[in-house]
Amino acid sequence: MKTSSSLEFLSDELGRLPGVGPKSAQRIAFHLLKIPADDVARLALAITEAKQRVRFCSRCWNVAEAELCPICLDERRDASVLCVVEESRDIVAIEKTGEFRGRYHVLLGAMSPLEGIGPEQLKMKELFARIEPEGVQEVILCTNPNTEGEVTAMYIARLMKPFGVRVTR
Ligand code: ZN
Repeated sequence: MKTSSSLEFLSDELGRLPGVGPKSAQRIAFHLLKIPADDVARLALAITEAKQRVRFCSRCWNVAEAELCPICLDERRDASVLCVVEESRDIVAIEKTGEFRGRYHVLLGAMSPLEGIGPEQLKMKELFARIEPEGVQEVILCTNPNTEGEVTAMYIARLMKPFGVRVTR
């Protein structure tokens, strides 16, 4: 068996990250070798700390550093309006507009029959379980405007009917 050098090991690991091809991985690896050791140590620490501290909000599945995320902890947010998104990073984009004052629910993905991702693989049960206890009146489906996002939105809209809440896209 071939033993890979530290540099190859680093390039291989970087290349496993989303959106990083073999060429970019190699470029980043060489960049890391060039910069001061302190800078590399800080990057390594940032990764390790984020991984240790960040978890998912037990209510909305947004990223959180406590049981609940900052949005769920904010009493001024309107609990009657729920915005459903695929990933936490979608929340960041919506929050930047400053126009939404409700709460969120992160599905942690979208339905994709091709990849075998159904409602069971997403935080779907958790979504429906929130409607009555939290007094949700309106659900805004902010899934991505692609096939998976549309399928997911249609599925939620259909299952939301018995709850009698307003569902918008
Ligand atoms: Zn939350």
